[in-house]
Amino acid sequence: MSSILVIGTVAFDSIKTQQKEVNEVLGGSATFFAMAARQFTDIQLVAIVGQDFPKQYLTMFEESEIDLKGLVISSGRTFRWKGEYEDNMNVRHTLETQLNVLEEFKADVPAEYRKTKYVFLANINPHLQMKVLDQLESPELVCCDTMNLWIENARPDLEEVLQRVNFFIISEEEAHLLTKEQNIIRGARQILKMGKFSLIIKRGGYGAILFTQRGEVFAIPAFPLENVVDPTGAGDSFAGGFMGYLAAQERMDLETVQRAMVYGNIVASYAVEGFSIEALAALTREDIRERMRQFVRMTHLSPV
Ligand code: AMP
Repeated sequence: MSSILVIGTVAFDSIKTQQKEVNEVLGGSATFFAMAARQFTDIQLVAIVGQDFPKQYLTMFEESEIDLKGLVISSGRTFRWKGEYEDNMNVRHTLETQLNVLEEFKADVPAEYRKTKYVFLANINPHLQMKVLDQLESPELVCCDTMNLWIENARPDLEEVLQRVNFFIISEEEAHLLTKEQNIIRGARQILKMGKFSLIIKRGGYGAILFTQRGEVFAIPAFPLENVVDPTGAGDSFAGGFMGYLAAQERMDLETVQRAMVYGNIVASYAVEGFSIEALAALTREDIRERMRQFVRMTHLSPV
């Protein structure tokens, strides 16, 4: 079992859905990833928060076996993000992004983490993703996520990072933004040309599709849910389940990658059943096993 180093945001999120609104709850790409991946392995968190970040959250991370040696507590204000979902929860609008302490973040990797083999570059400024890669000795599996803000404002840096990753995991919207291509297959083909990575496109409530450089395609549906409370963090939780499983198996063959996608899917399905990390904090391995069994029953077809 390998540990995973994650760099990303730890945030205060304010979220509006058609049912409910919450203000300044715990969020951030690294938060969701860590709370999901901790089900499978140990997590090393590289991130920054401000003085306003409550101690109770630090205690919660520590109790969840998330190592905080790489978490900087600075004198400024924590990163903040505000988003709103339409009736169709697959459609989200960013209302506000306050970078705050992120603007002074140096992304220093503690010496103890430099040999870590599994790395997740969660959604954050690509120049910081690159800084982390530069400090690691010889990472074996690097997965990377991004978001509209960075595609629009830091594209050259993002394209440089993509030269050094094994998996690029993005939402369908981000794939459109990168390529201006509406067809997912044609878009994926263009994105694959940006590096040597395999690509996973997340399709919100519709599942996820893997595209490899060898032309393999593997698609899974999302776990069907009756009550989606808040989709925020679904993508990061998917990545957490996906990478967590790969790090626990220490294998990267196609079948293991396919299974890892299903684990990512299942963990994300729990994440969206609550606001913030409510559902992920309560999640157990037995819950994951149970939904995994249901998923297999729903999608299995005997060979013809
Ligand atoms: P997801 O729903 O998986 O796309 O992730 C949403 C999380 O990403 C929220 O908790 C936000 O705090 C965080 N976030 C939003 N915008 C950014 C950004 N530009 N950079 C890094 N993290 C962000």
